[in-house]
Amino acid sequence: MEKVIVKLKKTEDKSYEILIGGNILKNIPTELKKIGLAHSYAIISDSNVANLHGKKLLDQFVKSGLKTHLIYFPAGEINKNRGTKVILENKMLKLGLARDSAIIALGGGVVGDVAGFVAATYNRGIPYIQVPTTLVACVDSSIGGKTGIDTPYGKNLIGAFHQPYGVYIDVETLATLEKKEIREGLAEIIKYGVIIDERLFRLIENQIDQIFSYNPELLISIIKRCCEIKGSIVERDERESNLRKILNFGHTVGHAIEKIYNYKMTHGEAISIGMIIEGKIALNLGVLDRGDFERLVILLRKAGLPTRLSKRPDLRMMIDTMKLDKKARDGNIEMVLPSKIGEMSDSEGKFGIKIEEDLIYNSLEQI
Ligand code: NAD
Repeated sequence: MEKVIVKLKKTEDKSYEILIGGNILKNIPTELKKIGLAHSYAIISDSNVANLHGKKLLDQFVKSGLKTHLIYFPAGEINKNRGTKVILENKMLKLGLARDSAIIALGGGVVGDVAGFVAATYNRGIPYIQVPTTLVACVDSSIGGKTGIDTPYGKNLIGAFHQPYGVYIDVETLATLEKKEIREGLAEIIKYGVIIDERLFRLIENQIDQIFSYNPELLISIIKRCCEIKGSIVERDERESNLRKILNFGHTVGHAIEKIYNYKMTHGEAISIGMIIEGKIALNLGVLDRGDFERLVILLRKAGLPTRLSKRPDLRMMIDTMKLDKKARDGNIEMVLPSKIGEMSDSEGKFGIKIEEDLIYNSLEQI
């Protein structure tokens, strides 16, 4: 028997820059032209953002002499699906966009996830730039390279890791956001404070009103800090084998809530209650003290986020849903728990802690 080895071990530098500022969208075409990233571009957006910011960005690309098309799909999580991906790909194919093209994902997390996934598979992978326009996308979904779509069997079940070529965050685009979208972003920002940065948590405690009244300088500094946090975690654990799990604080319970309430509750609302319940579990385990738990409750309330469920769900069903979570191991529910504001409990170098069902049940009953 003969043997041929195909050696594929390679190190590839996938580093990228996240640029954050005011009125910086106009710089994108000039900079892309300078580096010659692609011969043609598809700006992918949703119906809201295309009208608010997409057409202006398209004009700037065209004025810079870049061959560019604006393609958009109806806004909303419901459209983060296979059908939308097919429509976008067909449009791009029809426009003759080839392997030397690149995608600009202009929008919230839905656009970033779908457009990033199109980029991951179009012509076996083309570059893309993230241009997040919601607070959630600025502090979370645009960083880390997770792309994907929802299926009838669950959210984000089909996708790929595909790192962006770069991220441009223009805080001026955030001025058109509705308050409820700011709250969605705040849920993630508060989570970063809890898992790693007490100073960030304190900043939000002290200046939350200014976030709602749109203070660009404050937003730039908060977004920068969140990008540093998520970037450094992703750097150390790109594929979520250990450290990246801490980003899931509030999400084990939060995902179960979203599912049980048929996605009628927003992600931010569900993880807000998820953080409270997981915080309560940490409190009951003696990992977190009551003072820190109360601080979390107060800040989430200040942000206008819910801290309890309006009606009692079937607790057994909730626990069963948690067991189906992709983070569960052999049917055991694992969670990451805070030991104080700004620090996660790390037992023997592992962040995921197996939690007994009775403890989850009792903690759910207390909320
Ligand atoms: P979204 O993309 O649906 O945006 C929310 C709404 O705001 C939409 O109606 C959108 O049209 C509108 N909008 C966007 N920018 C606007 C602007 N500047 N002004 C006015 N309206 C604007 O939702 P989202 O909260 O940004 O993202 C949620 C999605 O992100 C979910 O699908 C979630 O799974 C995904 N996500 C992904 C990751 C990741 O790592 N890939 C992380 C977190 C969340």
